[in-house]
Amino acid sequence: MVIQWFPGHMAKAKRQVEEKMKMVDVVLELLDARLPMSSRNPLIDRLVGKKPRLVLLTKTDLADPAATEAWVSQFNRLGLNVLPVDATTGKGVAQIPKRCETLLEEKFAALARKGIRTRRIRAMILGIPNVGKSTLINRLAKRNAAQTGDRPGVTKGQQWIRIGNALELLDTPGILWPKFEDQQVGLRLAASGAIREEILPLEEVAAFALQYMANRYPDLLKERYGIASGEVQEGARMLEEVGRRRGCMRKGGEVDLEKAAELVVHEIRSGRIGRISLELPDDWQKEGESSAHE
Ligand code: GDP
Repeated sequence: MVIQWFPGHMAKAKRQVEEKMKMVDVVLELLDARLPMSSRNPLIDRLVGKKPRLVLLTKTDLADPAATEAWVSQFNRLGLNVLPVDATTGKGVAQIPKRCETLLEEKFAALARKGIRTRRIRAMILGIPNVGKSTLINRLAKRNAAQTGDRPGVTKGQQWIRIGNALELLDTPGILWPKFEDQQVGLRLAASGAIREEILPLEEVAAFALQYMANRYPDLLKERYGIASGEVQEGARMLEEVGRRRGCMRKGGEVDLEKAAELVVHEIRSGRIGRISLELPDDWQKEGESSAHE
């Protein structure tokens, strides 16, 4: 399905999120553990406002564990509550209700003091397409409860799903657009599979990913594609090399770069390449600094 985030769609998505936001006590903000900043919607802070929020780092099974740890520390430093989860195996998911209860403890205690009967905590899931919203809803609900449909235009009746004794969850997640106007961010999103449509040429995405791996995960690059660190320097050349070594050839003996790019991107998105993260907190500090000097 092609998602085109035209200004009209963005306005509609934003309105729908604002509507949902009014109904809930707590927001579960889903970010891809491999690229938490790049998978963040730029409007998120304004949309959530003062409402309690739990940041969930998703797909931790695909991410580099050391990088996930660094991101948890970084988000904690920023004063955000954060929990790494893996919705395919359920790792971390069981802690979500308890974490929500802790976040709402004071509010609910104050209500109780006023004689207002405690009710279930109402939560919504919020995130960009493909971050794992439906998978997590189904995992929490222990059934196939999530309504599918990535487009913000899909509206169906909303229902609450009961999770344990204390929590209920909106069955339709809030969908926000990624900020792929920045080249680096766009490449990371495309490499992770968050953007599947061809906004960026796949060869560019694959070259970027190989270059990145040469810098940060040289051992995995060697293991998977037989390219030793320092052997080939540039992403586009590495892609050619991968094509040659993996038999992605055209008739005339030329490397089929398109096929090679598909192979590399598929192996990254599926995690076959190994557990990698596509950005670290440091990258953002560096990028922030360099743009500040421009
Ligand atoms: P949504 O668009 O945010 O609702 O995302 P989905 O729940 O549909 O998930 C998008 C893709 O990511 C699907 O192919 C899921 O199977 C996959 N996915 C979701 N959560 C996880 C996870 O924790 N680990 C892995 N490896 N894949 C996941």
